[in-house]
Amino acid sequence: MGAALHLAHAHQQPLKKRRPKRTGGGDGTKFAEVAHQIYQDDRADDRTRPLLLAFAYAVTMAPLNEETGVWQAIHKALNPSSYKGQVRELVRADVPRYEPPGYRWGTDRLDKICAGPRVRPHPHDDFLNEMKICGAPAQDKVVEKLPGTGWHKNHWFCVRHRGHLVRVRDQVREQNESAPAPVPNRGGLLPCYFDSDWVRVYRWALGNDRWEPPVYGSIADDWPVPGQDPVPQRARLRLVLGGTDLDGAE
Ligand SMILES: [Zn+2]
Repeated sequence: MGAALHLAHAHQQPLKKRRPKRTGGGDGTKFAEVAHQIYQDDRADDRTRPLLLAFAYAVTMAPLNEETGVWQAIHKALNPSSYKGQVRELVRADVPRYEPPGYRWGTDRLDKICAGPRVRPHPHDDFLNEMKICGAPAQDKVVEKLPGTGWHKNHWFCVRHRGHLVRVRDQVREQNESAPAPVPNRGGLLPCYFDSDWVRVYRWALGNDRWEPPVYGSIADDWPVPGQDPVPQRARLRLVLGGTDLDGAE
């Protein structure tokens, strides 16, 4: 952890004098540094980037006092007139998780397309010809779990290729049983930048007290991606969330 920012929580520094509450101004240099990292982070999408920036702003820059806690400052930074629950919804989008191919529409070109072999060339589709696959609309799939990551690979088949489906299902059975829990591939960006009790925050966002973080942890920087170097650890800001402060996010 780098130079942490303390938000007037005396118990963290019993030996030091408590810092007076911030009333304005803030640490522009720190904000610029973190904002630069956030803009460079290509894991962030158009929902999580504004949220990360609002967190950074609230922690480094926003005037905080008895009335305005850090969560209220986040809400105000995003859009003061925004609807109730927006912060919660955006935090929910950052819940660390694994999303299999096809989970989002348009993320898997072979979604619901038969992968059975094609013998004759398709008259209109170069892609299917190149892949040498049937390409008919498919109703059923076999999920193959990859040994290193536990990530899913879907194999879709049409009714005509039912025999292939059965064969592939048998082929992957043993591999699937020994596959690890999938490495998360979405969310987990807030804990890369800010320290907090994230399990508690994500549970709040989900409205589910029984939610458990992935076995690989909640921090996206820590998740292994085969063939890629680990993401360098960032200097995290210490964001301390009080019990009542979370209510200010709504
Ligand atoms: Zn087919």
